[in-house]
This record gives sequence, C-alpha cells and structure tokens, in this order.
Amino acid sequence: MNRMPPAFSLCVYCGSRHGNDPVFTEVAQEVGHWIGEHAGQLVYGGGRNGLMGEVAQATLAAGGSVVGIIPKALQEREWAHDGCSELHVVETMHERKRMMMERADAFVALPGGIGTFEEFFEVWTWRQLGYHNKPVGLLNTQGYYDNLLDFTRQSTSAGFMGEWQNELIRSAPTASELLPLLINEAGLSTAPRADQL
Ligand code: AMP
Repeated sequence: MNRMPPAFSLCVYCGSRHGNDPVFTEVAQEVGHWIGEHAGQLVYGGGRNGLMGEVAQATLAAGGSVVGIIPKALQEREWAHDGCSELHVVETMHERKRMMMERADAFVALPGGIGTFEEFFEVWTWRQLGYHNKPVGLLNTQGYYDNLLDFTRQSTSAGFMGEWQNELIRSAPTASELLPLLINEAGLSTAPRADQL
C-alpha cells in the first residue's frame, strides 16, 4: 500500500491489563481512534493484552499505523500483537525502550501498572537530563494519577526536585485535551487522513 508518512508518532505507555473500570478501555480506544483519525502513528510496546491491545486495535481500525517494539522474551510468551504495521522484536528491554524513545515525537502514559510507571518515569527523567526534548504527558483518566502528581509535588516541597521538573509533565483528564497539546508542543500538527480530504 502506498501510504503517506504519518503526521506524527505518539508513543503510548499503558496497562497490559484492562483495569477494573470499563472507562479505562474506553479511554484506550479513544486514544487509538484519535491517533488514526489524525493520520498519526502509534509507537508502543507491541503487546496484545489489556489496554495495550485496545490502543493498537483502535489505531488500526481508524486507519493509523502501529509500530510495536517488543523484547524477544515477551514475544516468545506469545504476547505480541500480530496485526502491527511494523513489529520489531528486539533483544532486551533496554533496546526496546531506547527504540520507542527514538521513534516517537511525544509520549503519553495512560492508566497502567508498574511497567507503565517505569516507562513514564524513565522518559520523564531522560527529558529532564536533556537526552531528548519531546513532550511527556500523563492522561489522568478519572483522577487515576492524582496521587502520583501529589507525590511529585511533595518531592518538590521536600527539596528533592525543582518546580521546573514537575512542570515538564503535561497532564489532563481527557484525551481530547491532552493529545493535541502534546502534538503541538512537539512542533507538529495533526492532519486528517488523505482519504478524508
Ligand atoms: P503494566 O503497566 O505493568 O501492565 O506494563 C505495561 C507496560 O510494560 C507497557 O507499556 C509495555 O511496554 C510493558 N509490558 C508489560 N507487560 C507486557 C506484555 N504482556 N506485553 C508487552 N509489553 C508489556
């Protein structure tokens, strides 16, 4: 297929589980749909489980492309999504995260667990160290990340972090508020798909 290059590449970190509230699935689908609808590309961990699978499926269904990057060990456990437009099987978790960072124009964490936290903190840390200069967002669906945001402010009050480090995080309760903000901050614009022009 002769495809136009994507208008932007958004890296999504999110749960490999669905969580207990159906709203988490809805928001993952909304994010995927938004990416596809705006002629974007999803970069993610390549999994088919939980919210990860939902975002990928919704992106593809809305006409977007999906780049999945998965370590060999997870692929061997048959956790990879075989519908990805590009699936990269890499040797290590470190290689995966570096590639996800390089391939994306911006990053967003949706609700998730320990894997999502780790990825979000790493990309935020890399931003504050100047390893990249790409926007980092937290999708605070129904206040899921309120306590985490409070904790980072507490760390600032305790003198372990500067206010500017906190200010690097963009957060909003809905995808429709947060995603355009991240893409604009990356210096890109969202485009309608060619077949919608
Ligand atoms: P968690 O939030 O603990 O469910 O972990 C999700 C994050 O960790 C994702 O963004 C993935 O990059 C990675 N990850 C964890 N479990 C899997 C899995 N089963 N398949 C692929 N990636 C996973």
